[in-house]
Amino acid sequence: MSDSLDLPISKIADDVRSGTLCAADLCRDSLARIAAGADLNAVLTASATSSTAAAELIDKRRSQGEGLGKLAGVPIAVKDALCTIDAPTTSASKILTRVDASGVAGSTPEHGWRPPYDATVVARLRAADAIIIGKTNMDEFAMGSSNENSAFGSVKNPWDPARIPGGSSGGSAVSVAARLAPGALGSDTGGSIRQPAALCGVVGVKPSYGRVSRFGLVAFASSLDQVGPMTPDVRSSARLLEVIAGHDPADSTSSRLPVGNYEAACDQDVSGLKLGMPAEYFADGIRDDVKACVLASIDRLKDAGASVVPVDMPHTRYGVGTYYVVATAEASANLARFDGVRFGLRVEAPKSDLEQMYQATRQAGFGPEVKRRIMLGTYVLSAGYYDAYYIKAQKVRTLIARDFDRAFEKVDALVTPVTPHAAFRFGARSTDPLAMYMEDVYTLPASLAGVCGISVPCGTVTPDDGDRPMPIGLQILAPAFEEERMFRLAAGAEATSSFLGSLPPSN
Ligand code: GLN
Repeated sequence: MSDSLDLPISKIADDVRSGTLCAADLCRDSLARIAAGADLNAVLTASATSSTAAAELIDKRRSQGEGLGKLAGVPIAVKDALCTIDAPTTSASKILTRVDASGVAGSTPEHGWRPPYDATVVARLRAADAIIIGKTNMDEFAMGSSNENSAFGSVKNPWDPARIPGGSSGGSAVSVAARLAPGALGSDTGGSIRQPAALCGVVGVKPSYGRVSRFGLVAFASSLDQVGPMTPDVRSSARLLEVIAGHDPADSTSSRLPVGNYEAACDQDVSGLKLGMPAEYFADGIRDDVKACVLASIDRLKDAGASVVPVDMPHTRYGVGTYYVVATAEASANLARFDGVRFGLRVEAPKSDLEQMYQATRQAGFGPEVKRRIMLGTYVLSAGYYDAYYIKAQKVRTLIARDFDRAFEKVDALVTPVTPHAAFRFGARSTDPLAMYMEDVYTLPASLAGVCGISVPCGTVTPDDGDRPMPIGLQILAPAFEEERMFRLAAGAEATSSFLGSLPPSN
């Protein structure tokens, strides 16, 4: 097998366009790596037939002299929350599966719901001649930070298979970290791209709210959800974002602002940029070794010509509480559509009573974390509690957004850790929902404010309860729709770190 899949996306696409690389070979190699890496459980369904046919067509078009797109022949793995016309889409939930031949609800993702259309981002990837290689594992309905909430089993972190990959886009992060594919799409509602990217040593981008269409993304919390790229290097994410971003008439919240030239931004140096370091992101809870790793990365940006000043983000500590009111409220409304009538699973009730059918279906179809969130969300929206919880949370959300507005009056971007520690062991937090919710303390505020953010690998630390180095991420946050500035800084952070090209040990 060749190592072409390890090349940056722009190089792969250029080589396919020039005929140096063959799309069918790349596709075959990616499918072979997915099969060989089955133990990681990163990919729920590999689209062997449709991806091979698409790759062969690309090679044929090239041989006929046709010009090819920006992602010519590049295999891309797509989170299973995104609709794909040629592959099941389950959001890692049994409720988006059917009862199989043995009468068991949703025992495999292959029995998943088949959407009648592609998500806009998937359609844009195909239009740019990318190959959709498969659907990646995730926390059920994107609710989680460890991938332990998937109905189809946990995803293993290739840096240490005893540890979580992060979540909810853990399958996408691992697909990229283990180089099963040169790029993947994830979705980020409160950190689900940035956190698994950090814990698996890859780049992950949460675009500004409205930068990328949500049409065809199985909704979790619609005022927060964004689709974004995950890749080994910054420039590859820039190219992927250029392809998927932009206005979509099918999503009224997608912005009409022009898409920037993100790849070109990666060539600009960081000198003259002013960075803010919010003290609140370096306070209690962060491990000393993680803090040292992130601070060293910030120092390298300083050496490269950026300046760094302290900033205050006083409402940061309300981020977790605010998010878990807003996100669960929206989730309880969004998940009402899974009723046993319209999609996937249907469990018949004994007396063919409609309400009992709803109950039996939702009881069998949703996992425990999803049920917890539906109940929390329904509670905060209920008459009598609406003002005390939901309205209050909306007000605090505004205060958090103002923290960002004020900070960005003084600085060009913010630099923070992505997580307070490296990837933890399976089971370490799964019995304590609050401990799990605290995982997102550094990623949630940016989501509530709608700004853009990126996680760039900045080094490794060896946890006390382990003997393997685990990756750590630097988070760069820029004002809404300033993705070019974000990429410029991210490329600078990458260039000054020695992490790029580091691969997890083969297990
Ligand atoms: N971990 C957070 C949650 O559980 C964020 C998830 C996400 O961004 N989809 O809600």
